[in-house]
Amino acid sequence: MTILITGGLGFIASHAAASLLESNQELVLLDNLCNSQESVHQKLEKLTDRKFPFYRGDVRDKKLLRKIFSDHSITAVMHFAGLKSVAESVKDPLLYFDNNVGGTITLLEVMQELGVYQFIFSSSATVYGVPEYLPYDESHPTKPINPYGQSKLQVEAILKDLAASDSRWAIACLRYFNPVGAHPSHLIGELPNDQPNNLMPFMMQVAAKQRPFLTVFGNDYETADGTGERDYIHVMDLAEGHEKALALIQKTPGMHIINLGTGKPHSVLELVRTFEKVTGESIPMQIGKRRDGDLPVYYASADKAKDVLQWQATRTLADMCLSSWQFQLQHLSS
Ligand code: NAD
Ligand code: UDP
Repeated sequence: MTILITGGLGFIASHAAASLLESNQELVLLDNLCNSQESVHQKLEKLTDRKFPFYRGDVRDKKLLRKIFSDHSITAVMHFAGLKSVAESVKDPLLYFDNNVGGTITLLEVMQELGVYQFIFSSSATVYGVPEYLPYDESHPTKPINPYGQSKLQVEAILKDLAASDSRWAIACLRYFNPVGAHPSHLIGELPNDQPNNLMPFMMQVAAKQRPFLTVFGNDYETADGTGERDYIHVMDLAEGHEKALALIQKTPGMHIINLGTGKPHSVLELVRTFEKVTGESIPMQIGKRRDGDLPVYYASADKAKDVLQWQATRTLADMCLSSWQFQLQHLSS
């Protein structure tokens, strides 16, 4: 039984791969390296003391997919490959629909052709849009406010129809909140190829003195300290959630939509202060304007994950900050 992991050298997938390898699963990874580095393959082999195949290529390449499926007896696919910048999706929506929706359709076509029906999809909290109530539960209306979120919702709609069309499909759509942190080996972590847009990787570069200061995007929201609040989740908790989701689809076919979050929001200032406290580093800050399209606050209801997956996040905000920084230090010294 082999699991194909698309986008396998990216941030979240590489941590899921580490957890699965540590649980003795057989894996094959595919990535086109548009937002990751090939060295992550060796690092994963080193930290798990396991060897596994990596294919450099695109999930939209049907010929390559057929080859991977014929080279290995794949029984399940975890589909992480995707583009994830909201700002870029607003500038170039076709790129996002082609990669995120088109890529998923190509992959599903090959799976259907070859009779592989277990599928885990990296969806996102962005499918919900402006909160009508909080925490978002899985029945909250879905009205994404940007093409990135729309691309995730379109894939979810396709998966729903697919599951309804053939009872062999067993699909989990996991709606992630804000993944941060790094593997305890500190060999893998979040390493965007371009300038980071997200708070934690940007803050890492400020702490490493690669950037002079962090701009806080608005401190006049109606939140406890005026800054935006999000549901940050440790990437190792998220990785373990994927193992639970795999166990679920192996025994229960159909379509499962599940939030993966902690259920607790934290503000920008809380994240910065926690980071400073646990690392002893200081983060110079400037208060800037609100970022276009930002929601003041959102967080998950984690109840369904607890009921259906018997999973809940256990790591703290301090764990997330410390592991992110230890990975950054390790990376800077390598
Ligand atoms: P990432 O950019 O680190 O990983 C994505 C990986 O997919 C990269 O290694 C990239 O090179 C690869 N990739 C992209 N398009 C590809 C293609 N067409 N063919 C092959 N490989 C391709 O991002 P991540 O943060 O690890 O996110 C993984 C998934 O989770 C994405 O689908 C993303 O949309 C989703 N997600 C991420 C977040 C987040 O905040 N990080 C939140 C919700 C959902
Ligand atoms: N944020 C910030 N400065 C930055 C990046 C992000 O103040 O340089 C804030 C942002 O406004 C939001 C929170 O940090 O309130 C999380 O932003 P991120 O982009 O990481 O996640 P998302 O908004 O996509 O959930």
